[in-house]
Amino acid sequence: MTDVLGDVVLTGVRVLGRPPSDVELRDGRITAIRAAGASGAPVAGVTGTGLVMLPALVDLHTHLREPGDEEAETIASGTRAAAAGGYSDVFAMANCNPVTDSPERVRHVAEIAARTASCRVHPVGAITLGLAGRDLAPLATMAHAGARLFSDDGRCVDDPAVLQAALHASRRAGTVIAQHAQCGSLAAHGQINAGQAADRTGLPPWPATAEETIVARDVVLAGATGGRLHVCHVSTAGTVELLRWAKQRGWPVTAEVTPHHLLLTDEQAAAGDTVHKVNPPLRTAADVAALRAALLDGTIDVVATDHAPHPARRKAAGWCDAPFGMLGLETALAVVAEVLGEDGEPDWALIADAMSHRPARIGGIDSTAGRPLAEGEPATFTLVDPKADWLVDPDRHHSLSTNTPFARFRFRHRVVATVVEGRVTADPHGLLATATGSRRSSA
Ligand SMILES: [Zn+2]
Repeated sequence: MTDVLGDVVLTGVRVLGRPPSDVELRDGRITAIRAAGASGAPVAGVTGTGLVMLPALVDLHTHLREPGDEEAETIASGTRAAAAGGYSDVFAMANCNPVTDSPERVRHVAEIAARTASCRVHPVGAITLGLAGRDLAPLATMAHAGARLFSDDGRCVDDPAVLQAALHASRRAGTVIAQHAQCGSLAAHGQINAGQAADRTGLPPWPATAEETIVARDVVLAGATGGRLHVCHVSTAGTVELLRWAKQRGWPVTAEVTPHHLLLTDEQAAAGDTVHKVNPPLRTAADVAALRAALLDGTIDVVATDHAPHPARRKAAGWCDAPFGMLGLETALAVVAEVLGEDGEPDWALIADAMSHRPARIGGIDSTAGRPLAEGEPATFTLVDPKADWLVDPDRHHSLSTNTPFARFRFRHRVVATVVEGRVTADPHGLLATATGSRRSSA
């Protein structure tokens, strides 16, 4: 059941944080954007006064866990979390059980999503069969089945010859190779950032070099092959320097950073709560500063959540036995706006670029997602209350899991509604209820 917006005017909304506008929506499209009050007469409609309107968000890195680990998350629950977090589109990582490594399995994920999802789901294809890092999966036929992004995420494609072959194949198919950069032998059994965090806790260290050596190698391969490389969850200042170097050469490289790597440090991890155990690990304050600067100057293209649900009982194992990963979809916008708005109002246009326009372009879905907010475009947007001042309560999340590091954090900005092509996918406070009453459809 989805509520469809009737013809309606949203009054007083701040499109990308600009001065208030009245936004007219009709038949699932934006039909007019006028300065608020421009007509002189009061406008009938739904009041959006003070709310910021952004293009609905696009996540290049989501673990929905279905098929195979429906205790942690399902496509239904994960996409409800996505819609609540402002997302219209998520890319569902391939490390399911079975692994998404054939065209049949790409179609299978898409079919479950068609029946159960609250946002659009784009299956990510595995780079190698079974994520084993040896034999290439059938990238061309999976692309034909709808996969646009390929990744062994959760694992690194360790063998440079395999990654090179994948980049060649992706160049031919016009797709993207997303690498989880983690040198197996350097990361070894690492559990926490090398340096003070490892020294203090006595846990096995996970050095920055485990990420940086792979990124250095991979950007060279992208340059040599012309295949498009996307670097997942950048976590170190050294990786930022490598990306800057590769981009200066014009190599086809893009990169993402997670909200948690923009806000949290290894000091929090060293306190020992497994909710802070994540791959790659939380790094130092100097790394966090470099990641923020890289997002601001475009060296890092996008924010992606790496939403990684795990049941509480698994996270309750001791540090070394608990799985890596944390939730992200329902708090991403609040965290990013907090990070970028430390000294006042965040740059909403930059947030729209990093969380909607650019990920849609990288993922090859920009004909329908991450569109500009303009007349004639689809009514696909999210509304953000910049003065919400809300407390994160994982028990009220839509995700089946509760492993968020932001529990009990207080954030200023909160997503209050998400609309995809005129269909209301999240509206927890009933803001848009009066605009949907007349036109309900089952979807
Ligand atoms: Zn990963």
